[in-house]
Amino acid sequence: MVPSVGKVVLNNTCSVDSVLSILATSAADSSNFKVYLSEMATSNMTARISMQMIEDKNKTQIYHNRLLLILEHFGSKIELLVGGLKSVDTTITAASMVNKIMQKMPSFIESSFCDNNLCTTPILEVKKTHISLNIFNGQIVIQNELEKLFESSDETCSYCGEKRKTSMEATTHMIIELNSIPFDLEASTSFTNIDEVPVELVKQNFVKPNNWKLDNIPKMITTNSKNYYLRGVIIFHGGGRCGLRSATGHYTAGTYRGNQKWEIYDDLRSKVIHQVSSYKTDVELLFYTV
Ligand SMILES: [Zn+2]
Repeated sequence: MVPSVGKVVLNNTCSVDSVLSILATSAADSSNFKVYLSEMATSNMTARISMQMIEDKNKTQIYHNRLLLILEHFGSKIELLVGGLKSVDTTITAASMVNKIMQKMPSFIESSFCDNNLCTTPILEVKKTHISLNIFNGQIVIQNELEKLFESSDETCSYCGEKRKTSMEATTHMIIELNSIPFDLEASTSFTNIDEVPVELVKQNFVKPNNWKLDNIPKMITTNSKNYYLRGVIIFHGGGRCGLRSATGHYTAGTYRGNQKWEIYDDLRSKVIHQVSSYKTDVELLFYTV
């Protein structure tokens, strides 16, 4: 029961809970990320809840704020039930959830500068909550893929036709969505080598399970001479998935803690589960922070 909102039944909140759990444990394990999150917390509900999860023992307050956050982003999905009850379904993929609740906390900033002093748009900044990387045949070296993305490149300015320099950098954190591309997609395109197809041309929703051992996930990524440490992953539980990526299933947060141990946060269980690093699971999102 929330004042001014009434009684609300929440359904399938696992993706929002998984993201909040990783943000909270990241702040608990990284003092730099904690500074960032606590600064954000004054104006941003996602950051406020994550901070409350590690600092505040007031469960009611956290629950209330979490409901406000969900209503802010899923207000259009409220269904009225009998007796004045309302129900909100937050079924959505983990990356789409990040895109909603972390819109003001971007992972990446892409900047481009035009050489032409008279250009109508000399500087352009695009903020991204996450990036998506494609995995072909189960193979990827994340460090290399990021280096390719972060390389500055010269393009033709679409505003004036002169040379334009584009570069990308990460903020205090990096969220990476992994799209495992199945063989049958390769067979269905006219491209002879699907590895060379630009990422944006591959339907990002067409994925198969990306089963990784927790041990094999890179623990540190270096970009622009800044080190980012693995804080956690979002795991999808839903059996064999092929074809369209759907959120039908269950998400949990696998957090990689400061003591190099894995903990699983599952909103269907009241206790944290300790997990061995040899555990193999369907990894959908990676979280790194400074
Ligand atoms: Zn220009």
